[in-house]
Amino acid sequence: MSGGRRQRLLLNLCVIFILACLLLQLTVLRATFDDTELDLTSDLQHDYLDVEWREFIAHTPEQPDTFFQYNRQLSDKLAAVRSLPMTRHDSCNTRNYQLPHVSAAQLSVVISFHNEARSILLRTICTLISRTSHDYLHELIIIDDCSDDAELLVSLDGILRRIFHAHPAFIFRRNRQRRGLIWSRNEGARVASGHYLLFLDSHCEVNAGWLEPLLDRLALNSSRAVSPLLDPIDPETLSYLAGNVLLKGGFDWSLHFHWLPRQFADGERAEEAYKSPAFAGGIMMISREWFFKLLGFNPHLQIWGGESIEFAIKLWLCGGQIEIVPCSRIGHIFRSRHAFEFPAQFEEQQQQLDTAQATYLRNSKIIAESWLDEYKYLFYTLKPAAKQIPLNLSQHELASIKTGQRCQRFDWFLRHVQPDLKVHNAKFSALGTLRNEDRCLHVEESQLLLVSCYRMEITQWRLHRNTGQLSTGHKRCLGVLNESQLSMQPCLVGTLINHTQRWQRRDTQLLHAGTHLCLDNPLKNQLALSSCRALAASQSFQFALEMEAQTN
Ligand code: UDP
Ligand code: MN
Repeated sequence: MSGGRRQRLLLNLCVIFILACLLLQLTVLRATFDDTELDLTSDLQHDYLDVEWREFIAHTPEQPDTFFQYNRQLSDKLAAVRSLPMTRHDSCNTRNYQLPHVSAAQLSVVISFHNEARSILLRTICTLISRTSHDYLHELIIIDDCSDDAELLVSLDGILRRIFHAHPAFIFRRNRQRRGLIWSRNEGARVASGHYLLFLDSHCEVNAGWLEPLLDRLALNSSRAVSPLLDPIDPETLSYLAGNVLLKGGFDWSLHFHWLPRQFADGERAEEAYKSPAFAGGIMMISREWFFKLLGFNPHLQIWGGESIEFAIKLWLCGGQIEIVPCSRIGHIFRSRHAFEFPAQFEEQQQQLDTAQATYLRNSKIIAESWLDEYKYLFYTLKPAAKQIPLNLSQHELASIKTGQRCQRFDWFLRHVQPDLKVHNAKFSALGTLRNEDRCLHVEESQLLLVSCYRMEITQWRLHRNTGQLSTGHKRCLGVLNESQLSMQPCLVGTLINHTQRWQRRDTQLLHAGTHLCLDNPLKNQLALSSCRALAASQSFQFALEMEAQTN
């Protein structure tokens, strides 16, 4: 081969090699970013982001592996914005969303965080900006709730402004003392100026096209609040999985969140938006105006816990509704335990609660006291420790969170929103005050009295499903001595119960199994036992709550 031909061949090979390299790079870039990610796909932006990203996460303070409760090392190695599997139904991609005009639908995103790993936080933010239409994304409000890494917010401010320049607007706030998620989200909402608010956790990755389906549902009905369907991100492998469209959010009488089976109407498809008693976690979008009409998150709730259930109850009872929108997907790292400490609340050590439990219980008690009406006794029956927790709030303060709106009673919620939250209890068949005509049976220093039902500390009774015992919260049972004398006694166990402490119900009568006599109030203020007379008003005793046996 002549020298000239060899040179030409080498040149050709070089050109082919360079072209192949370019092609490869393009394919890699394509694989890393979805088509919808507009700005960050250009090479220049990408390289720039990469350098900034490395620099930012290089300053992550050393922490033990368990500090964040997820795989921080792995997160540091992944791209700032990674491509995610499309988890929503195909039809969501081609659907014609009814979008509001951009001039009426500016979005403020509120992210509050406490001790989040730098790479996870930055990925949350970069992914959000790159997968959200710039026309709608008005601002990001980022609140550092007194994280240990005190430098983080300043560097984040720098890097975000360098990468994204003037759009969207950024507002940074750092709490000089730990205020908690609830306070911080309210603060974020207060400084927001968009038409809509999105509350987002600091360990999320939004999936392509997440915003439009939510806007569509909100524009149709502004009294709604909407949740995306949350796709779980595994805390160990960080793999992005598909969330379950067959579930809705709800809660039990302890005010703990639960997933409940979603019921389908005739012909309803899984990808349609559906009503849910509670949000699917803490991520939700709502009109700012409506959020403020509802007075935001209850400011009496501390740090973390219960606020999303509280807001859900408030929404439903005061004229709103909640929808989960399966065409909108946001990934969230579900951790199995809290990564953060809770500041001490009160003398919780005395009650053998840790600070996290005490905070949650106190918040739940506030919800029970402000919204559950007569059903709050169910909460106290399941969470007796809540009784001892001091609230230091007046009835007026508790009630003030309802002002401005006409709100239904909790009974309405049970009938219309979460009928699955039936009044059931495996242990007790009836609960609460025990009323005869206009008086209630009350125990004071072992004395049995019939007093006004509106007394503050009126006795709460429990009728035990299996033993027929009628007890108060203090392990005292109503029994019969010497064939006819009623008294409060230590609750017995086993067969001893049968003759002295077993009560049977005959309509509203309470019949004592040992004597076959009925509980009576013949003189309007004195409890007695007498022979049973059907329809005698003095023998009719009503519990505040009748319980069904547990079905599951
Ligand atoms: N958070 C906060 N202050 C706190 C506790 C939590 O700002 O005192 C933030 C936290 O970093 C996260 C969000 O609130 O972004 C929700 O908390 P978390 O993710 O622990 O709740 P979960 O998702 O487990 O319900
Ligand atoms: Mn979270």
